[in-house]
Amino acid sequence: MIDLLRSLIRIESDTKEGANHALDFSANWLEDRGVTVNVLENEGHKMLVAEVGQGKETLIWNGHLDIVPGKKEQFDPYIEGDKVYGRGSADMKGGCAAMMEAFVGITKHADRLTKKVQLHLVTDEETGGSKTSKYLVEQGYTGDFVICGEPTFLKIGLQAKGISQFFITFHGKGAHGSRPWEGDNAILQSHKFHELLIQQEWTKVSSDYYDHPSINLARISGGDRFNMVPDTCEVGYDIRFVPGQSVEFVEQQLTNLLKEHFPTAEIRRRGISPAVTTSDQDPRILQLLDIMKDETMLMGQHGSADTRHYAVTGAGAIEFGPAGGDWHGPTEFVSISSMERYRDILMEFAFYTEVPKEVYKNANEGI
Ligand SMILES: [Zn+2]
Repeated sequence: MIDLLRSLIRIESDTKEGANHALDFSANWLEDRGVTVNVLENEGHKMLVAEVGQGKETLIWNGHLDIVPGKKEQFDPYIEGDKVYGRGSADMKGGCAAMMEAFVGITKHADRLTKKVQLHLVTDEETGGSKTSKYLVEQGYTGDFVICGEPTFLKIGLQAKGISQFFITFHGKGAHGSRPWEGDNAILQSHKFHELLIQQEWTKVSSDYYDHPSINLARISGGDRFNMVPDTCEVGYDIRFVPGQSVEFVEQQLTNLLKEHFPTAEIRRRGISPAVTTSDQDPRILQLLDIMKDETMLMGQHGSADTRHYAVTGAGAIEFGPAGGDWHGPTEFVSISSMERYRDILMEFAFYTEVPKEVYKNANEGI
């Protein structure tokens, strides 16, 4: 498994071509070990699906082989103690390698499976996942429960905040810079708006796994001369809302606030994504908790992964993967022992047949 991981790290998969190369390599690796692989392509982005087992239920293991760019030396992996260092080791070639080995493992005992297990390896998660994971869902490759092998330290990330991004344009009144009281400064409007926004009750609301939504004033542009009062200002907000809220809800709140205080301002959507709200009483969550007991805990993710593309179909979708550190940073690593443990849990989970009688009602105690 570690040799596989090192081979994957050596492939510079931060471009479309590189990620496709990593995909082809993985397809060959699986085929060499007796797995039947179906490679698909969408707008030049490759992905693969492999399926094993039988039964009504479908479990999906999803891993992405694309990475964020790294320094040259990060593509030359090395081991220190329990850690494999290299770009993509944690995010998430370590998870992919463990999934691939586990998939070969369950294929050898396919007759014992009472559910279908699909492996989805994809190549555009870091740029939104719309060309591969989302495409697979649109092509009908979906299931009852999905595990995305992002690094979570073997914790179960069962919720993810939703994303709503908006541009807001404020309109003021220009004037000479020496007489600002004769104008209406659009940049100051945006400043006042932000102060009002973060006072709103809905921006402070908590849920089981989150203290509050995330409000990021991400972009601002306005004004071009020192001697003029700026008459327009455009801001960009990236708002990550909590389960129970929605894009429509956030948009309505922003619109109401603008109407009340800045009636000439305009708002337009940039990008949206729903929240992932897998229930902590989902039977597969209970199964995982039964397998792992005190070794894991439930948590919410602030960012979002390919889970969201599957969650829109109603599937339970979690982020669950090995331990690591500094992903997207210069000293990224993954823990070898947690990769091994992760592989074993995936296999045990695939073969797990019971629905735990003892419902872990207090599963999220201690969070
Ligand atoms: Zn990732």
